[in-house]
Amino acid sequence: MRLCLLLGIVSGILIGQGQNRFPLGEIPPGKILLVAQPHHDDHTTDYGMGGVIARFVEHGYKAYYIRASNDEKDGANGYPRNDIINLKETWNGIRILGMEDVISLNWRNDFMNPIPLNELREQLIFLIRKYRPDVVLGHNPWEHYQKNPDHRNVARALVEAYWLAGYDTVHPEHFKLGMKPHAAGHFYGKGRLDWGLGQISNVALELNDSQVRKKERAIAAHRNVYHNPGARRAMQARLAAMGMHVPELDAANDDDASDLILHWWMNWISRDIGGKAGVAYAEDLYYMDPQYHLPGLKAYIDANARKAPSE
Ligand SMILES: [Zn+2]
Repeated sequence: MRLCLLLGIVSGILIGQGQNRFPLGEIPPGKILLVAQPHHDDHTTDYGMGGVIARFVEHGYKAYYIRASNDEKDGANGYPRNDIINLKETWNGIRILGMEDVISLNWRNDFMNPIPLNELREQLIFLIRKYRPDVVLGHNPWEHYQKNPDHRNVARALVEAYWLAGYDTVHPEHFKLGMKPHAAGHFYGKGRLDWGLGQISNVALELNDSQVRKKERAIAAHRNVYHNPGARRAMQARLAAMGMHVPELDAANDDDASDLILHWWMNWISRDIGGKAGVAYAEDLYYMDPQYHLPGLKAYIDANARKAPSE
């Protein structure tokens, strides 16, 4: 995960952070911790897991770090030098945390969507069988709105490997190399679960009358799908069955009624969202500001930035 320090001050966004309370856990009994992450720095970043790794090591665990990508894009030194520098710094990080070793798989950084996931999964199954961890630690594979493809794919392959490594029917060719099935007892996955609330819009943008009309005309332009001259009579029939009618429908012809129905439908949505935002019209969206991944830094700047004195 690269930390893009774009220090723009933007309006506050509420994503519901700090609302959860979690029960405290204990370090499970065991001797080996296997940490598998895509990048050189994922064992040290803000939302975990450096402190947990240090605690496991202090508890007596031997800990190993799998770095799945080559980190070629993380830095300003060109791909080959980035890879080497970042690998060296991965080592610096694991030494501070008391870990034993770094295993680099060297999948191409940020390009992990099209890789054969079964192949990555097999590598992880093999390493679980080799190191025989009691505890496996990685990204939470069900972390919603994780935009980094390496995080998503390594997390998915890792949790599958954690499950499958214990089966003697999975990759039995490993057993000819002296491996044995191994089912680790514990899996921990870090995640920015406040991102998981991203299905809920966190900002509304106000629209004026003209913008709402343009929106309505734009959808109406898709006549093949939305122009429905039969809608007026169908709606009139349904209303008549209940002893009701809408005067505007009675006054319009079939073509105009189709546009009118579309207008009612679309305009209500813009007004409804606008009403929730305290304005006439709006649309609501999920917004990520330049610091959305750095809430601690954003909070500090929002609280402490001052207007610069004029010269
Ligand atoms: Zn990362």
